[in-house]
Amino acid sequence: MAMFKPENVEDLYEIGEVLGSGHFGEVRRVRELATGTLWAGKFVKLRKTSCSLLGLERSRVEQEVEVIQALQHPNIVTLKDVFESRSEVVLILEIVSGGELFDFIAEKEMLMEDEAIEFMKQILDGLGFMHGKNIGHFDLKPENIMLSDKKAPHPQIKLIDFGLAHHFVPGEEYKSTSGTPQYIAPEVINSEPLGTAADMWSIGVITYILLSGMSPFQGHTDEDTLRNVLAVDYEFDTQCFSTTSSTAKDFIQKLLVKNPSDRLTAEESLRHPWIKPLTRQQKVNRNRSSINMKNFKKFNARRMWKRSYNMVWICNRLVRLKLLCKGSSDAPESCTPSV
Ligand code: AMP
Repeated sequence: MAMFKPENVEDLYEIGEVLGSGHFGEVRRVRELATGTLWAGKFVKLRKTSCSLLGLERSRVEQEVEVIQALQHPNIVTLKDVFESRSEVVLILEIVSGGELFDFIAEKEMLMEDEAIEFMKQILDGLGFMHGKNIGHFDLKPENIMLSDKKAPHPQIKLIDFGLAHHFVPGEEYKSTSGTPQYIAPEVINSEPLGTAADMWSIGVITYILLSGMSPFQGHTDEDTLRNVLAVDYEFDTQCFSTTSSTAKDFIQKLLVKNPSDRLTAEESLRHPWIKPLTRQQKVNRNRSSINMKNFKKFNARRMWKRSYNMVWICNRLVRLKLLCKGSSDAPESCTPSV
């Protein structure tokens, strides 16, 4: 069992405002008292009993810590320290202050494909490094692709949230059905053994959205979405993709492939002509193509709205839970989105 520091995090860090929240905790800006340096503190509530609905198993937090420690790469968030108290673990992470890539792009008037590709390259670099170490992220989505500093001339991508990541040991068969319906690969839904190719499916979905502002498999309900994913039921709507290059569509088509072993790997993706043009003509076509900014802005606005709606939904569910388990020590203290 991994040992985390038993000190009280508040003796060493001043705890600041909330930067974001995930399923199992919240992330706050923290200032190291000794140096004044800013970090992001991820506060993860630990599950009190094995049948408790709230919090996370300690072993799951250990896995997240082990994975981030194994990944020292410029496009992957770094971990400085880990503290543990009776009820929670606090991960002290590099602070990523440029916000989400999608929000950064949505503020622009226009984005050419070659500018979008600079971001894709960094995502694929980070992912290639991760996959080379036999680690899958398994929760790639726009919320987990951030920028270190959006004011920098060339903002740097940082991949975050390794809460569902898995480090494969040779010969291991790993299954998981967790993920987000829009971005999840068919083999995850089918509860089949997984490999790092599941992340490449998510890259296909993210690229499709980035270029068109449309989500390829989105249905009216999550069930519809999952059904569309299983049937690989998507198309390139001529209007939404009117400004997209044919090599970009080819890139997506080589990722949204049902059989994981037929999908491009991260390394192969970096060599695809959309990312690395082979001919002058491919380069010219790419440089003339742009993302569908009008649709992309709409997609991003809907995404933000949905997120605040989900927060309210979580709060309501918590209130109901609290009423149900009144008197139980597992009852949540307050209606905060910190689960
Ligand atoms: P997570 O549970 O890791 O997905 O984090 C939840 C949210 O906290 C993210 O969606 C981000 O908005 C924010 N966040 C996570 N890690 C960091 C970080 N290192 N720096 C800044 N914000 C972060």
